Amino acid sequence: MSERRSNKRPADESDDGSQPKRQDEDPSGTPPEGADWPSPDDLPGTSAPQTGPPNLENRLVVATLGYSQIREDQYNDGGYLRIVPRQVLGGVQEVVKYLNRGHYSSAWLSKRTDNGAYEVVKVSKSDPRFAVPTRKEIEILKTIQSKKPHPNIVKLLGSFEESNGQFSHVTMVLEVMGPNLQYAIHSSGKKMHLEVVRRVSKQLLGALKYIHQRGIVHMDIKPNNIMLAITNADVARLAANNNPAYEIYDMDITNPSANIVAKLADFGLSFDKSEPARRRVPPTCPYRGPETFLTELADTYTDMWSMGCVIFEMLVGSILFDCSQYRDNPQHPFVHFGMLNVILGAVPKAPYEANLRPEFRDIFDEYGNVRLPPRTIGSPFFGIGLFNKLSIDDSNEFSQLMDMFFKYDMTGRVTAEQALAHNFLQPNGGRNTFGPEMVRQNRSQQSSNSSSSAYNLDVGSPIYEEEPSTSYGGYPQKPEDGPSYSGQNNF
Ligand SMILES: [Zn+2]
Repeated sequence: MSERRSNKRPADESDDGSQPKRQDEDPSGTPPEGADWPSPDDLPGTSAPQTGPPNLENRLVVATLGYSQIREDQYNDGGYLRIVPRQVLGGVQEVVKYLNRGHYSSAWLSKRTDNGAYEVVKVSKSDPRFAVPTRKEIEILKTIQSKKPHPNIVKLLGSFEESNGQFSHVTMVLEVMGPNLQYAIHSSGKKMHLEVVRRVSKQLLGALKYIHQRGIVHMDIKPNNIMLAITNADVARLAANNNPAYEIYDMDITNPSANIVAKLADFGLSFDKSEPARRRVPPTCPYRGPETFLTELADTYTDMWSMGCVIFEMLVGSILFDCSQYRDNPQHPFVHFGMLNVILGAVPKAPYEANLRPEFRDIFDEYGNVRLPPRTIGSPFFGIGLFNKLSIDDSNEFSQLMDMFFKYDMTGRVTAEQALAHNFLQPNGGRNTFGPEMVRQNRSQQSSNSSSSAYNLDVGSPIYEEEPSTSYGGYPQKPEDGPSYSGQNNF
């Protein structure tokens, strides 16, 4: 949960040498949101067990990809805090086990010495390039939580500065969560049921609506930054599991009635729109809209493009704009931009013209047409829906919704509030729940023929007979570090 993808980010975050001045939120500007929240979901660190007996063969087993030892030179001066299990941080947080780490911080499961509650401590590196954005993240989370915390945003439980006498580390205390969505989609061998996709999408859109109404833009919406809530039993299992290769959760994402609760996490790149405008670090590459290539504009529409990518990824099981093969290509921004044109159609010049970056000026000809191959005819999403075993009705709705997310003209892009009302995200697509659609086949057991097949590893036999550390070895990158598309921001 503490991943960061590019070591360029901290510099970008603090390149003006100071924190942007925030304005106090107008209390009257906080809409009374509580009424439309799904109340049973608001269980800190837990997700109510699914109805009916758990299908243990469909339990979520995620491979926690191997991590390397922190090198000696990565500690201390500007680096990580040296932490060992049983160490007590912040006076009450007794460290239980290592969870993960990223460019900014390391995350540990802890157990409070005063009341025995499990929590997560996320300890930033001491360098101001990491401490400053972490303090800002704390400030934003406090603002978001100041009224009523949203059930689909990971809760900040506290913060403190931990010092080893020489270096100080800003530390966030967070509720314990289960796997992130990236693990659930790509490292579990399971495919999310359509009904689960609909519900999780609505939860996340509810969180986006909530922060957008408060003038906050997340700026890094991606499966890595979306966490799934787990039961207290799963938290205890997490604490007890000493095998670093995998974690097991009583969560069945293939079950249409499973009560899966997703929460938005990692506000490290977020900003308040009341801050003075300045260049923002764009979202992680596959989740970037065209305006983040062509201009330096960033607003709530930036999150909506990314959210469309996430919904696609949950449904299909593969990344829509998968640019991993271009990661090290210095021309990556252009190649990636070209990919948008090929998949979605030619990008028009008009919405970006006034703010076009110089290096992208020549990508349009004198008539304003992009100098790239023309699009395929029609929206690709209807066919993709059918290919993923959706009914004709669902494929139509899916296609319509995706086209609303991937509007090139940002001013016409769907808002979270609008998306929430779309038929595709309603139970059973908004159709009569007693109709034939109710007998939808469990999609999880169908192998996909799409490019996602590399990710659809079949867990097959019961998990305790598996050797997870070898079963999941094919994933190309380490989620804790995020997709390391470090080349693409350098323009
Ligand atoms: Zn890319």
